[in-house]
Amino acid sequence: MAIKVLSDKCKGCKLCIKACPFEAIDMEGKLAVINEKCTACNQCIPACPFKAIEKTAEAEGPVDLSAYKHVWVYAEQRRGKLMNVALELIGEGHRLSREIGDDTKVCAVVVGNKIEHLAKECYEYGADTVYLIEDDLLENYTTDGYTKVMVDAIKKYKPEIVLLGATHIGRDLAPRVAARLNTGLTADCTRLDVKVSSYIDYANKNTTLDTSSLDPNSDDKGLKQTRPAFGGNLMATIICPKTRPQMSTVRPGVMQKKEKAEGATGELIKVNPAIQKSDIRTEIVDIVKSAKEIVSLTDAEIICSGGRGLGDSSGFEMIKKFADKVGGVVGSSRAAVDAGWIDHSHQVGQTGTTVKPRIYFACGISGAIQHLAGMQTSDIIVAINKDPDAPIFEVADYGIVGDLYKVIPQIIEEWDNAES
Ligand code: FAD
Repeated sequence: MAIKVLSDKCKGCKLCIKACPFEAIDMEGKLAVINEKCTACNQCIPACPFKAIEKTAEAEGPVDLSAYKHVWVYAEQRRGKLMNVALELIGEGHRLSREIGDDTKVCAVVVGNKIEHLAKECYEYGADTVYLIEDDLLENYTTDGYTKVMVDAIKKYKPEIVLLGATHIGRDLAPRVAARLNTGLTADCTRLDVKVSSYIDYANKNTTLDTSSLDPNSDDKGLKQTRPAFGGNLMATIICPKTRPQMSTVRPGVMQKKEKAEGATGELIKVNPAIQKSDIRTEIVDIVKSAKEIVSLTDAEIICSGGRGLGDSSGFEMIKKFADKVGGVVGSSRAAVDAGWIDHSHQVGQTGTTVKPRIYFACGISGAIQHLAGMQTSDIIVAINKDPDAPIFEVADYGIVGDLYKVIPQIIEEWDNAES
């Protein structure tokens, strides 16, 4: 999709320039000309009184899908440190690339400044190739800067699949890149498949998706991107059959890291970014770390979560004591967050964090589908609830029916006894 000015209709009135939020229109004599900053946002089309601007959907013709190859992972780094989700996605990208076959590689794309040292970690977690995009202007994340260099690199190297973490940065970057490339993006995927047969296996076991029309022997290797839809009440699988790359964001904590292969190496491709100060419309004046307690739910091995059943905010003091005792971190349901008892950074679930600890304690949490979406793949789930019919017991490995204000102090006491 692109924006085109019809030269025979343009009168040079400049109203489109005023309407464009991206400074993407220049005047050449009396003719408006679209420049490379255009995001095809369409604002200029209704602004033109002469109907001289239109969208050209078919003008570019069908995309040659065979020109695209390899799986790219945007290896998000902050202050020279890779985010955990980058390593998880390299693991997933590795799996997908091997399923696609035909020498498909998994490639990590690292963007920043003075970050070459991160290539080693990418190789050790499964990357075959690292694309390094470095520049002083890329020191800190900016939507404009990172979008530009990612789009340029994707246009040049033509990956078949691009995966990003559904972090704040990934959620900002991915849609912008996809729009510039005129391709599709599936946000918040919880499952990715290439082989039709493995997708059918998964869908038949875990979802209500109808797979009866699919041929398990099909050689279709398009990406099947599955994500919760309609408030988590059903799973939807989305494909991107006509454009490339196929783009997905994936929540942290959902995919498996590959086991670290100490000393592994791979190919390094240094990309020279064509970026100038004028490409970036924001200026970072200062970076202030949140004063809030940093909760690393995604990495936690044990999580003790409290819900509305705590009754009020002071209940989290007991949950904190419980978590400290068992070496865990504090999580919560959304109801507790909405009540203002605890910060959102503790929330587990569809609109919070997805977690996969070894043990998940759900205390006074009913087990709404949106909560389950974020914790049901935990290795062991222990539920404490006074309602024996609470849905949380359907996913729990161990269920304790009782008042959490009696049960939790007893567990803490037993723990103390066992330690002494
Ligand atoms: P409740 O459902 O009210 O359950 C409280 C439980 O505590 C009950 O089962 C009760 O029996 C038990 N209880 C009460 N007193 C005691 C006691 N003394 N001892 C033991 N048990 C007791 N929710 C999330 O958690 N995470 C999300 O990310 C999320 N995203 C959402 C996104 C959307 C679009 C929507 C619509 C909803 C979302 N929700 C999410 C909200 C979700 O639907 C539920 O409302 C929420 O999870 C309920 O929280 P709760 O289990 O703490 O509260």
